[in-house]
Amino acid sequence: MIGGGLAGSEAAWQLAERGHEVVVHEMRGVRGTPAHKTDRLAELVCSNTFKSTETSNAHGLLKAEMRLLGSVVLWAADQARVPGGSALTVDRDVFSGAVHERVSTHPRIMLVREEATDLPSPGIVATGPLTSDALAEAIRRRLGVESLAFYDAIAPIVSRDSIDDAIVFRASRYGKETMDGADEGGAYLNCPFTRDQYEAFIDALTAADQHHGHEFDEVPYFEGCMPVEEMARRGRDTLRFGPMKPVGLRDPRTGRDAYAIAQLRMEDRGGRMWNLVGFQTRLRIPEQQRVFRTIPGLENAEFLRYGSIHRNSYVNSPASLTAHLSLRDDPLVLFAGQLTGVEGYTESTATGLLAGINVSRMLAGEPPVVPPPTTMIGALYRYLREADPAHFQPMNANFGLVDDLPTRVKDKRVKREQLAERALGEMSAWRDAHTLSGATL
Ligand SMILES: Cc1cc2nc3c(=O)[nH]c(=O)nc-3n(C[C@H](O)[C@H](O)[C@H](O)COP(=O)(O)OP(=O)(O)OC[C@H]3O[C@@H](n4cnc5c(N)ncnc54)[C@H](O)[C@@H]3O)c2cc1C
Repeated sequence: MIGGGLAGSEAAWQLAERGHEVVVHEMRGVRGTPAHKTDRLAELVCSNTFKSTETSNAHGLLKAEMRLLGSVVLWAADQARVPGGSALTVDRDVFSGAVHERVSTHPRIMLVREEATDLPSPGIVATGPLTSDALAEAIRRRLGVESLAFYDAIAPIVSRDSIDDAIVFRASRYGKETMDGADEGGAYLNCPFTRDQYEAFIDALTAADQHHGHEFDEVPYFEGCMPVEEMARRGRDTLRFGPMKPVGLRDPRTGRDAYAIAQLRMEDRGGRMWNLVGFQTRLRIPEQQRVFRTIPGLENAEFLRYGSIHRNSYVNSPASLTAHLSLRDDPLVLFAGQLTGVEGYTESTATGLLAGINVSRMLAGEPPVVPPPTTMIGALYRYLREADPAHFQPMNANFGLVDDLPTRVKDKRVKREQLAERALGEMSAWRDAHTLSGATL
């Protein structure tokens, strides 16, 4: 096990509880990262919440599924819980103390303080967004230079059913651009701006409040990763000549080119999630809601993922890894945690949990398994397997990833409750079918 963060601690525990001897290589203690402050396993680097516990919320559902599989990280979070409404909020020291104690004193786990510089087989690499340089180099040598990114530049994603079809229109520029899943109308949804709407949008964008992260998190902007607000500051027309250029996109309602266009590109094959092309941003979340909802057609947009720009090492999983997130030429070298292109504490832990289960299965001569895409964990894995490698960006848990219900349910809350009920039923059945009883906690 390389890395004793959230994913690594969970994976090590799952393996040890299934009878395997595990060595965890964690470099903190001999070598720090720019964000961690202690040498404890599973340190939370920033906020102290695992988000909602309600299963009608995507993060709540993800946690409920992980509980069915016996997550030690969630067990520790319960021990460390502090009041936080419906969110699972923790005392960070009590939390990492509990994980550290439980994992490092396990009779089958040995904790070694050292920086790993190579990929172990069998083994799990879960070195997170701040993977050390030497190991990052080893990953690039093995997977190819293009396969490991050091920054993410994430554009927001909105749900299809929250986009106003009375305003947006479907078209590809000059009718030319094509992509998988594009219908005859074209690959993109286009939000047309009048001049006044564009001017008001630029004013709102340039005045909005942006997130200031740690110093190490200051990303050297290069083309393709420049925040949309930074482009807007460079000149009032910069966006109109960049990602918002209106040419070749005639608005069928007016018969003319709009003054500017914001484009949305389909993010998933089911067409439930649409990505605001070129809108990577450092705006704070409430500001993203306020400013991007002034885009014509997105007045009621439901954000499934917010934009961000971070320092973040992650593998282009759809281009480089197998369905269970192993090397293609060695199924026993798995990746887990944020390094696989999931985003967030809980998502990272979930991939650690499944990696531990799968290494255990393979060592026993059984094939690796992944839950169905009707579950949140299965849907995240499907994203990592099937997302377009050319536009791959890290992803958090959200309902847009999960297969639709067989019949349409209009009420959003009812729909989510039904999706959650189905997911938990299928996760239990999947667990039992593969005799994956949760670890004892
Ligand atoms: C500054 C910052 C703020 C964040 N804020 C949040 C937040 O508020 N909420 C949220 O949900 N997510 C947040 N994230 C994302 C967060 O890092 C992940 O969700 C989570 O920590 C990922 O878990 P992980 O196990 O993949 O990586 P980590 O928890 O980072 O664990 C990786 C471990 O690997 C070790 N390591 C690295 N390289 C080596 C090596 N070569 N040899 C041995 N050990 C090594 C590291 O020391 C670390 O302990 C943040 C990330 C950063 C960088």
